[in-house]
Amino acid sequence: MKPYDQLLRDCILINNYWASADRRFPVMNPATGDLIAEVADADTNHVVEAIGAAAVAFETWGKTTARSRSLILKKWYQLVMQHTDALASLLTAEQGKPFTEAKGEVIYGASFIEWYAEECRRTYGETIPAPVAGKRLLTIKQPVGVVAAITPWNFPVAMITRKIAPALAAGCTVVLKPAEDTPLSALALASLAIEAGIPPGVLNVLPTSDAASIGKVLCTHPVVKKISFTGSTEVGKILMEQCASTVKRLSLELGGNAPVIVFDDADIMVAVKGTLASKYRNAGQTCVCANRIFVQQKIYPDFISRYREAVAELNVGNGATENVQIGPLINEAGINKVRRLLFDATEKGAEVITGGGTHPAGGLFFEPTIITNCNDSMLLSREEIFGPVSAIYVFNDEHEVVRLANKTEYGLAAYIFTQDINRAWRVAEQLEHGMIGINEGIISHAEAPFGGMKESGFGKEGGYYGIEEYLETKYLCIGGV
Ligand code: ADP
Repeated sequence: MKPYDQLLRDCILINNYWASADRRFPVMNPATGDLIAEVADADTNHVVEAIGAAAVAFETWGKTTARSRSLILKKWYQLVMQHTDALASLLTAEQGKPFTEAKGEVIYGASFIEWYAEECRRTYGETIPAPVAGKRLLTIKQPVGVVAAITPWNFPVAMITRKIAPALAAGCTVVLKPAEDTPLSALALASLAIEAGIPPGVLNVLPTSDAASIGKVLCTHPVVKKISFTGSTEVGKILMEQCASTVKRLSLELGGNAPVIVFDDADIMVAVKGTLASKYRNAGQTCVCANRIFVQQKIYPDFISRYREAVAELNVGNGATENVQIGPLINEAGINKVRRLLFDATEKGAEVITGGGTHPAGGLFFEPTIITNCNDSMLLSREEIFGPVSAIYVFNDEHEVVRLANKTEYGLAAYIFTQDINRAWRVAEQLEHGMIGINEGIISHAEAPFGGMKESGFGKEGGYYGIEEYLETKYLCIGGV
């Protein structure tokens, strides 16, 4: 008996009905290689059916009062919080992150449901002073309609609630396609949503091993009015092209290449702690993880020795066991990518000072690693590492480091460590990244806008911005008044 058995669902959810399918695909535990479940594999017929169910449901859900939606969302929030441990153990089983981190994700994920349960009652329109007599100008906010959400495997709970909670709160109905590696958390969340009173068709979930075909139907179907996607820039570009045919609204939260800048005047332990938190969370598998760590020359020796000590204390192992900070990478492709980037870096002169190889805990485990002597000829200065590898660069002055930090097509998160308030302002304003952590490595909160610039995408999740993504602003002009 597993702690999550009660929440384990292995079917497709359409119209609050759990449907089976001709084919099934395996969901494996990356720490042990064990099979967790074989999940019904949705095909294009299921997508069309789910879109139809969402369209019918929208007729009613879109007209409910904000207060009634708020009450259902609050109930969903409470149920998620009541099942925190079970959801976290399922998350650890299918994704690998340590249980305490998984618990943190469930609570963070739930906070979006709570926030949007509150926020949906404040989607105000406005009245606008008219420039001529006899007219009245105003705006109202209305839900955009049927929304499709496509989510990644690195946050199997939070990436879902961050999209679905504001969509449902706005009055939209949803077809969700979770990542093939981690569909079980999505299905578990959906089962709690049904228990909370989400009506049939309002939330439909399509686990599938054929993301490309399902994605194409979602992007090209005229009934779907918006796509919200989190994943790679490469796939984001495909979706953008596919959405062009129906001029669909899009939110894209894509890859990152986060710089961390440690200035000479930083509080060194704040910088070490913040960099460590940003780099090694989820074994380095987040789009806001420190990808390039720039350390100013004077503080460099001290920073390296303390950072190395802190990294040496990280325990690697199965996230389901106690006192583990680094779980496995998600799959073989993840390990191969880290290996390839490390090989390229060392070929080009990087020096491995800690770790550097796979870990005896098992095939998908990688040692927490630090490499120094990095430069911008290396592939890992351009690509997301997505693994527990700290790549350290040295810099001389502020002007130089701003230029280097911006030398990427990505623009998601960046971090600055300095005790000089003027420098913090100056540099934050110059960085071409959508979110800036100042003396802080963990920056996402339900109340704040999460999102990128450049090829990291567009659209915001979280805060009052997050619900706007699911609302049309309709303008009314009343004449003859
Ligand atoms: P990652 O590299 O983090 O796995 P992906 O962009 O490949 O990022 O995956 C993010 C999400 O996009 C997953 O749900 C995945 O199934 C989905 N996906 C991958 N390829 C496509 C595609 N061609 N069309 C639609 N969705 C896709």
